[in-house]
Amino acid sequence: MNILIFGPNGSGKGTQGAIIKKKFNIAHIESGAIFREHISQGTDLGKKAKAYIDQGELVPDDITIPMVLETLKQKGGNGWLLDGFPRNMVQAHKLWDALQKAHMPLDYVVEIKLPRDIAKQRIMGRRLCVNDNNHPNHIAIEAIKPVNGRCRICGGELKTRPDDQDEAAINKRHDIYYNEETGTMAAAHFFKKLAEEGKTKYLEIDGRGTIDEVTQELEKQLC
Ligand code: AMP
Repeated sequence: MNILIFGPNGSGKGTQGAIIKKKFNIAHIESGAIFREHISQGTDLGKKAKAYIDQGELVPDDITIPMVLETLKQKGGNGWLLDGFPRNMVQAHKLWDALQKAHMPLDYVVEIKLPRDIAKQRIMGRRLCVNDNNHPNHIAIEAIKPVNGRCRICGGELKTRPDDQDEAAINKRHDIYYNEETGTMAAAHFFKKLAEEGKTKYLEIDGRGTIDEVTQELEKQLC
């Protein structure tokens, strides 16, 4: 099963992605997480990417595209969920070309839809567990509030992502995501059109509900 997932930062895309990965036993390939790993390991690629990431800018395509396509080739043999890529039209075309060349089907494209103001509130309150980024913790959502300042799932220490607390960086990331001309929504529409031509299936999921509600809706449609 090969799946592409779209959703603004703050839409719960990472959380839902982890659930899909488990359900289908496929690789979860997250471009942002690959960059963060390079940064924490101090690689050349990480050093080049950091300044862009801190400001909420896209890392240039000549760094991002080969990195993601190579990871897909290396880790995606038994199916994949690609998250955070493509984010613009150039990346969308390159991905589609690479899939066709490799005769790799794209089974589903999932779009988690969330209004921009809600996405922003969710980003600023989210807290990341040092043991597992996909343990949901949010200081303003009762159902997933941290317990005594620690992860509500495992008691682990909680951190924030630096680009999550910088309002200008959040706005920039959302400007890119919601841009229907050249940004991530344009890339999503590219795949929606392919679905209309019968080349993939495009699922639109309402991201406003609780984690469980969104998961249920996703599972109903992913069959
Ligand atoms: P994310 O974890 O998806 O929010 O990504 C964090 C940051 O990594 C983004 O704000 C970008 O700076 C960078 N990034 C992730 N994916 C891409 C991509 N497909 N193209 C360019 N930059 C990306």
